[in-house]
Amino acid sequence: MTQLQENIFEKIAARKKELAGKALILCHHYQHEDVFQFADLTGDSLKLAREAAESGKYPYIIFCGVHFMAESADILTDDDQAVILPDLNAGCPMADMATVEQVASAWEELEQACPGQKIIPVTYVNSSAAIKAFVGKRGGSVCTSSNAERVLSWALERGDKVFFFPDEHLGRNSSKALGITEDQIVLWKRDEKRGGNGVEKLARAKTILWNGYCHVHQEFMVEQITHWRQRIPGIRIIIHPESPWEVVRLADQYGSTEGIIAAVQASEPGSSWAIGTEVNLVKRLQKQHPDKNIYLLAPTPCTCTTMSCITPANLLWVLDNLAEGKIVNQIKVDAQTASGAKLALDRMLEI
Ligand code: SF4
Repeated sequence: MTQLQENIFEKIAARKKELAGKALILCHHYQHEDVFQFADLTGDSLKLAREAAESGKYPYIIFCGVHFMAESADILTDDDQAVILPDLNAGCPMADMATVEQVASAWEELEQACPGQKIIPVTYVNSSAAIKAFVGKRGGSVCTSSNAERVLSWALERGDKVFFFPDEHLGRNSSKALGITEDQIVLWKRDEKRGGNGVEKLARAKTILWNGYCHVHQEFMVEQITHWRQRIPGIRIIIHPESPWEVVRLADQYGSTEGIIAAVQASEPGSSWAIGTEVNLVKRLQKQHPDKNIYLLAPTPCTCTTMSCITPANLLWVLDNLAEGKIVNQIKVDAQTASGAKLALDRMLEI
């Protein structure tokens, strides 16, 4: 550790003490250790949003994650609580692959292509508040990587088909898990007329998947699974469902970040794991479980570069300002969008 880093860490620790009871620091599992060490609460996006919602007594919620997570936290917290994102560049490239304008125009095209059919929209929590509001106002729901199958099945009980945003892979993996066949799953290519599909294909589809993806989880490949199985017989492969179906279907297990953590925690000492998710979480699991052999599935470091925009330096900058009574980088969702998005979030919590 450099002297400069040490100084920053000491200053953050001092500010945290000074702001105890006022500022709550939430950190996503993909956050780098330099920031993660200062977390009051840690979790995946849904767990953190829930924890933010239960944090009533803290006027300041500092969200060390990405933009859509801070938006969800703002929607679920009280009006007198300020949600802060230490660096406004910390967005989610996958969430940005579906804008509400694109989705609204695709929705109109799909309705025209499927007259008389009931379409239910479902959005992954990794989406903007505007998309969540769009979905909420049309009777749809949010889902997470841990409940996507349940939400999809709820939606299919209520409609003829589901329009799923923005992650193609989570949509396909969940559809396949429910037994939906390949010819009933249709990819909607944004920016193409009718998503690049003919009317007949759309009419017989059960799930229509927006072609967004996470660049981190797209890095996992079938050859990597073959490599680890040859190298360590008996190794267990666990992967996040934002990864492609060809890879997920060959893994021993798939699950959300919380699911991956729980599986490794529950395993016996000496067990071996190759994990397909963001590198910071894998490194943390290696440190927490020295009695297990834990590897990153891919040979390249799979880093969420936007999440790593949050650094100790900008966390300190936020805390310094709060100590002087100034709120910087507040994430505020307007009331109308927030109420629509809350409908979709509440629906998920009911399901
Ligand atoms: S890991 Fe992927 S889905 Fe998650 S925040 Fe980063 S880019 Fe978005």
